[in-house]
Amino acid sequence: MELIKSDDRENPICPHCEKELHQIVAKQFDKGWFKVTEKYVYYCPYCKKILGIGQSAWA
Ligand SMILES: [Zn+2]
Repeated sequence: MELIKSDDRENPICPHCEKELHQIVAKQFDKGWFKVTEKYVYYCPYCKKILGIGQSAWA
């Protein structure tokens, strides 16, 4: 598989509301909100639906 770097003309599309995302919101939860190591949740700024969970703000 080849990794292709996105150029500036493309933006990801939210799978929930299908809006073009120019930014993704990363919210940090306190320890214990998730019982495992995940600490950040990423969500769409338009519909607020969760896109992913990670261990850092930039993962
Ligand atoms: Zn959305």
